[in-house]
Amino acid sequence: MPSDVLPETLVVGGGIGGLSAALCLALRGGAVTLAERSQSFAEVGAGIQLAPNATRILRRLGVLEKIEPVAVRPRRLVLADAIEGRELTSLALTDFPSRYGGPYLVLHRDDLLRALLERCEQSGVKLHADAHVTVQPSVATTYSARFRVGNGAWQDIAETVTIPGPASSLRIAEATAVLSGDHE
Ligand SMILES: Cc1cc2nc3c(=O)[nH]c(=O)nc-3n(C[C@H](O)[C@H](O)[C@H](O)COP(=O)(O)OP(=O)(O)OC[C@H]3O[C@@H](n4cnc5c(N)ncnc54)[C@H](O)[C@@H]3O)c2cc1C
Repeated sequence: MPSDVLPETLVVGGGIGGLSAALCLALRGGAVTLAERSQSFAEVGAGIQLAPNATRILRRLGVLEKIEPVAVRPRRLVLADAIEGRELTSLALTDFPSRYGGPYLVLHRDDLLRALLERCEQSGVKLHADAHVTVQPSVATTYSARFRVGNGAWQDIAETVTIPGPASSLRIAEATAVLSGDHE
């Protein structure tokens, strides 16, 4: 889809998924606002494994080069018997870049989130913390997204999505996809 027809987009949620989606859209030239309900952008938890299907995309997004210096590249994945600890099988990981086009990495979740955040900022994504999104139906089958930032002001962001027939999350997703041209 050419960037000049990308609709202005509101991404709800500033986790790994939301930041990645916002970055993809911004790098295609879209105007993107991201709203996160927490007071700040942070990841709860410890490590995360990233297989080549993820690291290939992160390379294209300019994120891989930021996380590689703080990530570990395990040499082998071992599956073991949970009771006895006996090795059942193992998988060599060192040839993943040549076989699958990207490395297998393990890193702290917050390091991944920081790198995504930095790339979103560099790419012009408007980031709002303390912004809980609510969807208010204006008439029975029409939805528009509004979000409230910390100061209490409401802002309209998304285009109106008209749902043909009874509303359901699937129908809303379908209508949004049609609106953004993702169905092509
Ligand atoms: C124990 C465990 C281990 C895992 N290990 C791996 C792994 O090794 N490798 C891997 O690839 N995946 C792993 N996963 C899966 C991966 O962690 C998740 O798929 C990923 O973190 C989901 O990211 P997300 O951004 O979609 O969701 P979340 O991280 O849940 O982020 C959603 C964000 O949206 C915000 N939000 C929600 N509602 C609103 C609202 N109304 N308005 C504004 N903001 C809102 C929330 O505050 C939150 O910050 C693991 C998951 C678990 C539970």
